[in-house]
Amino acid sequence: MRKLRLRIGALVSAAALALSLTACGAAKAETLDIFAMDTYMSLVAVGSGGYDALQTAAVEINRLEALLSRTKDGSDVSRLNASAGGEGVTLSGETAALLALAKDCADRTAGAFDVTVAPLVDAWGITTDTPRVPAQSEIEALLTLVGGEHLTVDDSALHSSQLPPEDVAAALDAGCAVDLGGIAKGYASDRVADIFEKYQLTGGTVSLGGNVYVCGTTGEGKPWNVAIQDPNDSDGFAVRLRLSDAFVVTSGGYQRYFTAPDGTVYQHIIDPATGYPARSDLVSVSIVTYRAGGDRQGTMADAYSTALYVMGEAGAAAFWQAHRSDFDMVLITGDGRLLYTPGLADTIETDGSAYACQVIA
Ligand code: AMP
Ligand code: MG
Repeated sequence: MRKLRLRIGALVSAAALALSLTACGAAKAETLDIFAMDTYMSLVAVGSGGYDALQTAAVEINRLEALLSRTKDGSDVSRLNASAGGEGVTLSGETAALLALAKDCADRTAGAFDVTVAPLVDAWGITTDTPRVPAQSEIEALLTLVGGEHLTVDDSALHSSQLPPEDVAAALDAGCAVDLGGIAKGYASDRVADIFEKYQLTGGTVSLGGNVYVCGTTGEGKPWNVAIQDPNDSDGFAVRLRLSDAFVVTSGGYQRYFTAPDGTVYQHIIDPATGYPARSDLVSVSIVTYRAGGDRQGTMADAYSTALYVMGEAGAAAFWQAHRSDFDMVLITGDGRLLYTPGLADTIETDGSAYACQVIA
């Protein structure tokens, strides 16, 4: 049977918060746990509209899963993949905008993040019950199907400040497919952030399998504590970040992987340049973005966490240098170092960390 591995790269101390609030009566915290998008999700809302905000968020997450899942019949992504090689298909403007953003991310990350990697994700089957090591010839054949040029979608969807309401035409080349597994939960976190804002919560947290959003403050008026999981200790954390109105998205190879008969461990993030699971010198990448930057900050953080894991330490550092005003990050290396960007200096709690913590200059 498939071993269940939770993606909980970052955790919010939500349970502790709920208890303390109930005890002192300072503010009412509502909590909700759901399973969606193939992962466990936890939501907390502080404020008078908390219950309604969480119900609305759950409906929204289920709506997005029905739109973006590869495995649900009739989803936009299923219909797009089924249409590959044909005339194309009409997608909701929302899906088209997300695909256009994904293509843009592929350009920005020089292809390290690429949703057209789906045929290779399938061939390896790392997160399925039947993972395998494909033959080199099969990998080379599938690599010809990977690349943004195989996906046609109206790019104006990307630049529209409002989601385009009309249906948008999209097409995929024969044999190609898209997999939004590296970005959909980040997108969902952006939409939950919208809902929390609409309900004017004083505070809230969302943890969607490695994608965390914290808004406002705890009932005691303090920033939230977001723990970056220790890849070597599933019960421990490497560092904690004190944050408000921020996304923390973690990618790593330590929770979804399979061990081949020859003992080689293959994790679930594919390097689109080689067609193999990335052999990163990083064990985890956490990207931090800020809600003040707009309504796609969770989505961007999700795409970047996947991409920078593929890039490895040197590539991730260079990418951050080129985009340093866009995000902060925490990298944990295979040789036991923890690197963080200077923007986190005032929010990171490194005391007691098992890692040698250094600021990236
Ligand atoms: P994440 O956990 O956000 O890093 O996303 C990993 C998931 O995204 C995988 O389980 C695949 O479904 C998909 N994926 C794997 N490799 C890539 C890649 N290089 N670019 C985009 N998506 C990917
Ligand atoms: Mg991702």
